[in-house]
Order: sequence, then C-alpha cells, then structure tokens
Amino acid sequence: MIDLLRKNGPFRKANLHSHTTRTDGRMTASEVKEWYKDHGYEIVAFTDHSVYSDYPELRDERFLPIAGVETDFCSYDPHFPQKKTISCHINFWQEFPESPLAVYVPETHEYKVDTINTYIKAMKKNGFYCCLNHPGWSMLPGNDIERIDGLDAVEVYNHGAEWNNNCGNGNIEYAMYLNSGHRAWALAADDNHAGIGGKDIDLTHDDDTLGGWIEISMPELTVRHFFEAFRSGSFYATQGPKIYDYYIDESRDMIVVRCSPVKNISIKGSHIGLAAHANSNRNDITFAEFPLAGIRETNQYFRLEIWTTDMKRAFSQPYYFESKSCRKTEKT
Ligand SMILES: [Zn+2]
Ligand SMILES: [Zn+2]
Repeated sequence: MIDLLRKNGPFRKANLHSHTTRTDGRMTASEVKEWYKDHGYEIVAFTDHSVYSDYPELRDERFLPIAGVETDFCSYDPHFPQKKTISCHINFWQEFPESPLAVYVPETHEYKVDTINTYIKAMKKNGFYCCLNHPGWSMLPGNDIERIDGLDAVEVYNHGAEWNNNCGNGNIEYAMYLNSGHRAWALAADDNHAGIGGKDIDLTHDDDTLGGWIEISMPELTVRHFFEAFRSGSFYATQGPKIYDYYIDESRDMIVVRCSPVKNISIKGSHIGLAAHANSNRNDITFAEFPLAGIRETNQYFRLEIWTTDMKRAFSQPYYFESKSCRKTEKT
C-alpha cells in the first residue's frame, strides 16, 4: 500500500495565510489565535504584508504559531499610476525563527519574474518556505507563472480573494505550474483580514475566515514536525470536504479514495480533462477506486480532487511517476 496522504499522525487544521492589525487585518495576533483555536485550528501562520512576524508568546500546548511574511511585487498602470495591473504576492514561512533574524528585504517591489526568482532564492537560503498566493487575483500575465522558480506551494484556493473578489480559485494556475515541470504542493488558506473590504464596510467578524485550510498530518504539534510534514506533503487542501483515505493498493493496482460525502471524486493527470472520476448529482459519494493502468502510462503525475454540489473542494498533493520526465524541466 502506498499512502498518498502520507499520514504520520493526526490531521491538524492549519491556516497558513493570515493578517493582523500590524498591517491591514482587523484582529490582533492574539485575537486571530483565539478565533482559530475556537474553531478547531491548531496552527496559524502570521503573514502580514512586508512585515516579518514571529509570535512565540502565542505558543501553547494546543496552538502553534508559524512565523512569516507576505511579500508583493507589483506593476502599475501607466495611465492610472495609482492602479495596479499585476500584484504578485508570495508567502514565506520560517522554519527556524529562533535563529538570527534573516529576512531579505527586496531591493524593489517592481514586478519582474527575474526579481521574484532572485528574492525567492535568497529567502529559501535563509530557511524560508514559500507559496504563490491567490494567483487568480494577481493577474500574472501570460505564462509568467511557469517562469517562477522555487515555489514550495501554490494556493489552489484563497478564501479572502473568493469572498471579496470572486477570484480565489487557483486551480488552473496550479495545473499550469505543475505541467511546466515544477513541483509544488496544493494549498488552501483564508488570507483573512476580517474586514479588508474597507474601513467603511461593516463586515462581520468571520466573513473572510474559516473558508480554506489544510489538514496536515503530524505526530506532534511542534515547528519541527510541522515543517517535516510540509516538506513531505503530508497534508491536503480543503474548503470543507474531508479525505479519509487515499492510497494505491499495489496488489490490485488500484487508486482507492474514501472521503466525506461529495458529488465528484476525480483523478486529474497532466492532461486536459479527468484521468478518472466518479460522479453523481447529489453529495452521495464517499468511496471510489480507479485502475492505475492507463493513468500510469499517459501521465507524469496524478492528483485527487473532490467537490460537493455547492463547489466546496478538496485537493490532494500530486503523486509523481518517478520514471517519467516532465515536459519542461530546464531552468534558465
Ligand atoms: Zn496577498
Ligand atoms: Zn494576504
């Protein structure tokens, strides 16, 4: 049996993208902690805009804060210089915040893929992991996403962008990134500001929270175990549906899936359309299995997506057929 969820302990709820009153959020860091803890989360990453945040004082036996920062690279409209045409945001999480603060401040926030790649490289050298945020909101031109190197993850769902702008779905950009030969994990996150819509809009406390998260499997609630689980892809992204089992039964050469009730269980490969799927008109599917034969022969990787009738989705991490080379792996 090959466990495609890479389980190594209980699943824990984590929101890896959040804002506080340090920048444009409405909750303080301790209010963010209490809010998420009250709703069953054990992990929150603090990723305020261009301000590195580390809150070791928020650590307790049932809550793990992750230190981080969200960095942006933007282009402006020459005709309306106050308006952005591109806004590429990348989250960085630091594994060893107790080490001397090693935050690389970019020389410029101007949007250029080369600048972004240089920045990512420097941050990773300093022990950070990174994620391309809300690609559906960022308006990256053409195939630029394929030229960004070193992303550890891509947000396949950003709840704040969905709630406020109807563009939180990063599914297509994620597929493009994988198909260009890169490897990155699938993430869902809130990007909660709790009211960023404007100081003049009276949004309720929970409007952009609790809508996208990961379920990460780790034996103990420590920073070390978190990053070990992150590196090994021992998590899935979700807007609500749960994936209970997802494995390859080698004796029968089958992919097996068990999940909470959904309308569709799909295996996606590196081509357009679905490699295999089970579909219904109602949320009444909780089990499916698919022959690996055929999928193996025609794909470099496959991954699981499930969704409900109201389009609440969950995404597994990709599983790669190691013997196959990807279409484009050269780095320039
Ligand atoms: Zn952002
Ligand atoms: Zn953000």
